[in-house]
Amino acid sequence: MRALRLTAWKSDPELVEVPEPHPGPGQVVVRIGGAGACHSDLHLMHEFEPGLLPWDLPFTLGHENAGWVAELGDGVRGLEVGQPVAVAGAWGCGSCARCLQGFEGYCENLAAAPVMAGGGGLGLDGGMAEYQLVPAARHLLPLPDGLTPVEAAPLTDAGLTPYHAIRRSWPKLAPGSTAVVIGIGGLGHLAVQILRATTAARIVAVDTREDARALALELGADHAVAPGPQAALEIRDLASGRGADAVFDFVGADETMALGAAAARMMGDLTIVGLAGGTLPVSFFGVPYEVSIQTTYWGGRPELMEVLDLGARGLLRPKITRVGLEDAADAYRRLAAGEIEGRMVVVP
Ligand code: NAD
Ligand code: ZN
Ligand code: ZN
Repeated sequence: MRALRLTAWKSDPELVEVPEPHPGPGQVVVRIGGAGACHSDLHLMHEFEPGLLPWDLPFTLGHENAGWVAELGDGVRGLEVGQPVAVAGAWGCGSCARCLQGFEGYCENLAAAPVMAGGGGLGLDGGMAEYQLVPAARHLLPLPDGLTPVEAAPLTDAGLTPYHAIRRSWPKLAPGSTAVVIGIGGLGHLAVQILRATTAARIVAVDTREDARALALELGADHAVAPGPQAALEIRDLASGRGADAVFDFVGADETMALGAAAARMMGDLTIVGLAGGTLPVSFFGVPYEVSIQTTYWGGRPELMEVLDLGARGLLRPKITRVGLEDAADAYRRLAAGEIEGRMVVVP
């Protein structure tokens, strides 16, 4: 079968022939219906120094995947061949406290995980291929009616990651509050919809690209702001002069974190999700009193069930650009150039 693989660090991926996988005991092979292309893949392919991550090359890209059960390994119960499923992408040991809570991205016994701090498409073979080997049935969530694998694929990361970040700020997003979303790409365009569907907050979207700001307004943001020296003041004004109760930074550069800190309300949240490598100096008078600053990585399996429910009910609709496997490497170049609206999904 064909697979889009990372064969060397600091390089573009290559479309190559690899053997079709077959499941061992407890494992499942999924026929891929859709594999989302995440900006994290660009960081990982082009920016990360060799040795930064403890992963062996090559591996197949694609860490947001959905499809149909193709083959069940010995001992797997509760799934049927042909059933549509989403793949929860972070694969931990399965038995530490965090894994048992469903947060396998925060596994505390990595020595027993199939890969160090990764999963399919992140150190092990992902979904940019006709089939993907999933090492345990617990990583597969049956798709609710009304959701196709192509729609479900981006929900497993571009949907789940902002959902987890927003969910932990729910107590601060009561009516009268303001939420800011910085970066209206794959994650951010879903963050706007998640805020709309799950909170009554006023939503302010920030992006350098005018078309991304227009998309945010179309998807339910109340205001769209261009970054720049006036942006923090503009956001504070829109937030009744008080500042934003929660800022979600889906870029993670020096300037976006500085904007987030300057726009946040006292006792607000600033959550850094983007991996652009920026830093934010934190000091007593440098950030508003009692602002909580956190990073978040992906989300939990129970949360993914909630995200799939939002998707199946039409409350969360990813904007999808479909490409074939043969065009995927080129499509990553378009993603890097900021030419993709919403999420690009590879359909093998
Ligand atoms: P994307 O390329 O689809 O979207 C990024 C958006 O940010 C684009 O619309 C771009 O115009 C905008 N942008 C870039 N620089 C900006 C700036 N200075 N100010 C305002 N807007 C700016 O990317 P994506 O796939 O949505 O991923 C976003 C980030 O989140 C990436 O860094 C990715 O690696 C990271 N990520 C993190 C996690 C996690 O678990 N923490 C999960 C997935 C992705
Ligand atoms: Zn990702
Ligand atoms: Zn674990």
